[in-house]
Parts: sequence; C-alpha cells; structure tokens
Amino acid sequence: MKNIIKLVVCYLMFMFSLSGCSNVNISDDIEQVALCKLDGKNMSSDDIIIDNSEFTSKKVIIVLDPGHGKSSAHLSEQDKINSGYSYVSGRGWGEWRHFKSGTMWQDCEGEGCSGRAPINGGCWYPISAGYRDIEPELNYSNAISTKKYLEQMGYIVRLTRGPDDFPSISQRIKSCYPNGDTTLAPDATAYVCIHSNAGGGRGSCYISLSGIYDQNGIPENYVDIGNALGKSINDSIVRNTSMTMCGNGVYNSYPELVLFCKSPVPVAYLEIGFYDNSSDLDILRNESDMIGKAIAEGIDAYYGNSK
Ligand SMILES: [Zn+2]
Repeated sequence: MKNIIKLVVCYLMFMFSLSGCSNVNISDDIEQVALCKLDGKNMSSDDIIIDNSEFTSKKVIIVLDPGHGKSSAHLSEQDKINSGYSYVSGRGWGEWRHFKSGTMWQDCEGEGCSGRAPINGGCWYPISAGYRDIEPELNYSNAISTKKYLEQMGYIVRLTRGPDDFPSISQRIKSCYPNGDTTLAPDATAYVCIHSNAGGGRGSCYISLSGIYDQNGIPENYVDIGNALGKSINDSIVRNTSMTMCGNGVYNSYPELVLFCKSPVPVAYLEIGFYDNSSDLDILRNESDMIGKAIAEGIDAYYGNSK
C-alpha cells in the first residue's frame, strides 16, 4: 500500500511537473527500476523508493563469457566431463560444433546439421583448439570489470566461468537459461563473449555473424542483433580507451564459430586488442577497468531503452 501511494504521488508530480523523481533507488533486482525520472530537484531517498515491478515487463540479462580458460591443459577426465566435454573414439576430447538442424541440445555427431565450419575445421571441435596462454586471465579481468559496471546500471549479469575453469561452449551457454535449466526457454537477452586476439596485428574488433544458423529458438534477427551489439560495444571500447580500431572494426572471416552455431540468444563476440602485441597488452593490463566500463556502456547504448 505504501508503495502504491508513493507511486501515485510520483505520477501526480510528473503530471503537474511540480518537481522530479530522480535518483530512483535501483537495487540489484532489476525489477525495481526507475519509472519516473525527470530533471528536477532531488527528493530524499525515503521519498523516491518506488516499487514498480508490476509495470516492468522486461528484465535485461546479459551473459558475460570470458573466453577460453585457465589451466585448460591440466583438467582431469572428470573435470572434462563436468565441463561439458565428451570423449569420442578416434577424435579425443572435445564437443560437437552444431546441434542437429532445428534442435537445441541434440549434438550433430557429424551429420544432420548445417555442417558449417571454418577451413581446417569440421563438426568436431577438439578441446585443444581452445587452449591459450595468457589470454584467459585478460578476458576474465575484462569480464569482471564489465560485470561491475553493468550491475551498477541495473543489469542482471551471469558469468560463464570462474578464474580457473574451462567450460565447453555447451556448458557456457547454459547460463542463458533460468538457473541453467535447459528444459525452460532461455531468459538471457544476449551473450557477450570477451576475447583478445593474437597472431600479428593491433586494435580491437568484433567477429561478425553471417549466413544461416539453424539451432532451434533463436530470433529471426539473430545475425543482425549480434552484429549491431558487437559494433556498439567495439565502438565504445575504441572511443573510451587507448585501444585502437583493428581495421574497420569488424572481422568477417569466422561466421562458423562454435558459439555462433550453438547459442540460443544473440551473441556479440569481441576481440579486444592483440595480447601478443606489447602495446595492446599494456592497454589490456592497465585499462581493464576502463575497458569493462566501455563494454558496459556499449551494451547499454544498445539495450538501455529496454531496461
Ligand atoms: Zn555438425
């Protein structure tokens, strides 16, 4: 009742423009959001706590994925199984790149799928293809920074891994579901995958999606959302940190990435600098907090009106 009264008061103030309701108390629970935010005099915090959860139709849940993982070459067999990998005779440890066309969670096992794969790749994605040296810790640091700022903005954030584990892509995308329950519909709004590049070059880009993705349940504009979100975030990184733009900011040669082929929600895939370039590595190490803030602002530039 108290909240309803407060809400009515807030509405009246809005209607008559007598004052403003700003600095609304936004807790970790995004359902408590600002309904009435105007430029005006600040009211005391006691006056402006508004529970308008009944008016909030949409939660914005961002899955943050720090790419790769630490100590990945040293997992025990049980760790590998728990991390979502399987052992296939003649192939070793890894995971399938696709689900059967039109399904989720039915591994393709080499047929009945889109068959899309990078040159020198195939339906099988070996665990060793994900091994990196210093990249996992850089990605993790940037993800933690991003989480902090997104939560300050009122987003719900889920991380796909901790500092020392190395989940498969199948394991990571479970974070897109309520409590990881894949029998329910995914409730995440987007999946933001944080990587750093290597192999000669400098600057930041996102990897673009193109062509057909046929996992069940993805939105019709899966490709466009992922690319627009990737661009928004990458532009923010280049604008707000010392990182330069890599080329024109988009890398379009890997539309067959495992994650693109399996995610149930749109994906922004970032390659933030080249960790094997010393000047980019300095930026990654010294500006991780700013990079996280820039990522959060890039996400908010895209989804801010949906909160
Ligand atoms: Zn396949």
